[in-house]
Amino acid sequence: VQLVALAGGTGAAKLLRGLSRLVAPRDLTIVVNTGDDTELWGLHISPDLDTVCYTLAGVIDATRGWGLADETFQALGQMARFGEPSWFSLGDRDLATHLHRTRLLREGRTLSDATAAIGAALGVKSRILPMSDQPVRTRVLGPDGWLDFQEYFVREKAQVEVRDVAYDGSSAANAAPGVLEAIAGARAVIVCPSNPVTSIGPILAVPGIVDSLTRSAATIIAVSPIVSGNAVSGPAGRLMASRRLPVSAAGVGRLYAPWLDVLILDERDRQEIPEVLQLGVSPVTAQTIMATREDEIALARRVLEVLA
Ligand code: GDP
Repeated sequence: VQLVALAGGTGAAKLLRGLSRLVAPRDLTIVVNTGDDTELWGLHISPDLDTVCYTLAGVIDATRGWGLADETFQALGQMARFGEPSWFSLGDRDLATHLHRTRLLREGRTLSDATAAIGAALGVKSRILPMSDQPVRTRVLGPDGWLDFQEYFVREKAQVEVRDVAYDGSSAANAAPGVLEAIAGARAVIVCPSNPVTSIGPILAVPGIVDSLTRSAATIIAVSPIVSGNAVSGPAGRLMASRRLPVSAAGVGRLYAPWLDVLILDERDRQEIPEVLQLGVSPVTAQTIMATREDEIALARRVLEVLA
């Protein structure tokens, strides 16, 4: 293994698609957040694993950034008629992934096994690992009590005030097979532009992962998901503020500083360079907004240049 990526969903998937054009897919191991996994209609849903897998397989819906292309939602409507929850949009073809994964888990296979099986069937050549085979569930404390992550993110559209965030089950979880070994043996670890609180945070909460990052000889490089003092998408900014972190690239750097070597921040945030240097982290600027495939490849190339 040469490159290991720590990944959430959409932002990570774009950078990984760029990287996979520049490095041999087999040289890339991707450790994915499972803190926002959930159970719906009796099925095990792993949103970030599926976003990464579908993107690398070239079957993601490009406009939504999640789910499969050419999707229909017939089952969703029918489930609503049965009074089943319908705020989480599961597409008809996407359902097959969840049925397959859930059957494998019911037969006693691990989430790692199921993830490998789904990746192989869709033709993904990079290794995709869940952060853990045990359940870790991100929960958010809103004004009316604790919410599961998907209740907060999808049902409430991330509009409730967040007072606390917890990673339930993390202390009893182990890193999935291969995760710690991959980090220990990597030439570089890339922390993707993902939500620091609810995508990278749960990965870091799995015992042993921070320790392996700290000890690894790998160059550890993060791409900031915060540009010009705001998340590029999603609630990362508000969640960082709720944790009393500055909503800036340097705030991301501060969170990762104990084990981070290099922070890639957007060119328009170059005034934060002195603050990043003070953290003992090397700042590198780049055009970090990935609006097109060319942007994804250019940012991935910048990451690889830093490692060269
Ligand atoms: P969520 O949407 O907040 O749950 O988080 P995810 O970890 O799934 O991915 C979204 C994160 O990626 C957000 O924090 C965004 O700010 C970040 N992001 C999305 N697209 C881009 C991009 O093109 N460039 C950068 N630098 N960050 C991005």
